[in-house]
Amino acid sequence: MNIRFNDIGIQHWAGAFILFLANTHDGIVRGDGAGNFNPDNTVTVGEFCAMAVRAVPSLNAGVNPNDMWSVQAARYINFVMGRGVRVYQGDFTPAYGEQIQRQFAFNIAQRIIGVNAARRANAALDQAERRRRWNALHDRTQIINDARVREGVETLFMHGGIEGRTGNILAPRETLTRAEAAVIIARCLATDNAIEPFARNLSRNFTFHRRIVPPGLANNPNRNLTAINFVTIHNTGNYRAGATAESHANWLFGGSMDGGISRQISWHYTIDRDEIWQSFEDTSACWHAADGSGPGNWQSIGIEICVNFGFVPTGERPQTGVPPESQATPAQLAEATQMHIEACENAAWIVADLLNKHNLTVDRIFQHNHWCPNNQDCPGEIRSGRWGVTWNQFIEMVRERI
Ligand SMILES: [Zn+2]
Repeated sequence: MNIRFNDIGIQHWAGAFILFLANTHDGIVRGDGAGNFNPDNTVTVGEFCAMAVRAVPSLNAGVNPNDMWSVQAARYINFVMGRGVRVYQGDFTPAYGEQIQRQFAFNIAQRIIGVNAARRANAALDQAERRRRWNALHDRTQIINDARVREGVETLFMHGGIEGRTGNILAPRETLTRAEAAVIIARCLATDNAIEPFARNLSRNFTFHRRIVPPGLANNPNRNLTAINFVTIHNTGNYRAGATAESHANWLFGGSMDGGISRQISWHYTIDRDEIWQSFEDTSACWHAADGSGPGNWQSIGIEICVNFGFVPTGERPQTGVPPESQATPAQLAEATQMHIEACENAAWIVADLLNKHNLTVDRIFQHNHWCPNNQDCPGEIRSGRWGVTWNQFIEMVRERI
């Protein structure tokens, strides 16, 4: 399976947990049928019971997937309650669309799924510390006066299934979002090591970082885009082996200093074969398109794809300390091509994500060259097509990831 959701981009804090669950068994969590997960919606009793039961394939709640959701949800709730698990603060069976409180979600997770053996073993090594933290949760006394629920929540915590919120808060009577519910279920089922790389296993291979550039220097226009209408693609043209996404992000963060002066040079995302670094919010304007206050700078999100090959391609201006392509070995040429392909694949992920997020179509992706009055040859490596990816191939990479 390779289930993805329009609203679970690579930047979502719970993305790995949600995608892990969506692609496990028959889909422990599911979307809304229109491609969205709606992570910020409050989770209902019916939804949480469904997630918990689906997480354990040996359980059969007798649910017919062709039934209306209200019928399915009622079956899931009755199944869970039939196992003696309290799901609601009231004495009766709740309506399926009723919001569930955290304490009952915890109780259901513990009683129906239990905590993954490896995670439990890990927690067992540190029972004294977990006990100390449990005792520090000052609002744990707000758990409903029901010994079974109290025991379920405490056991889940002591086994490492939940951690509480920052500030030593359990918030047992609050509601939770679908994203938070997914994290609880996923943590019961698997270790963090199994979950975290999962999003990357959906055929991507990068880590995402943010280092937002503060205002105050010339590289930050300190104004918003007039509209988010386009995505602009660049190659960095920096061929030093150390010219990675992170080093560009650090340069931007420091004010794009050149010769001791902050330059009007900036963009939103830098991508290499391993990492994506975000330097400006999508809504911020940047200086990257060389069209002044034209649509390149004021209406587009700038994407820089790294070319840290360690040699300067033939036809490009020499760079101090970087040997020319003619001195590169066949192995180095092949490595540079592979490096560029992987960077472009990673860039295609973030571009697809941006298109989805901002309701844009692929015909809104432009080369930097499109905006420049001086016909600048950028993105140079994609335009030449000599480094594994042509422009048409790049657009196709994006299309596959939307
Ligand atoms: Zn450019």
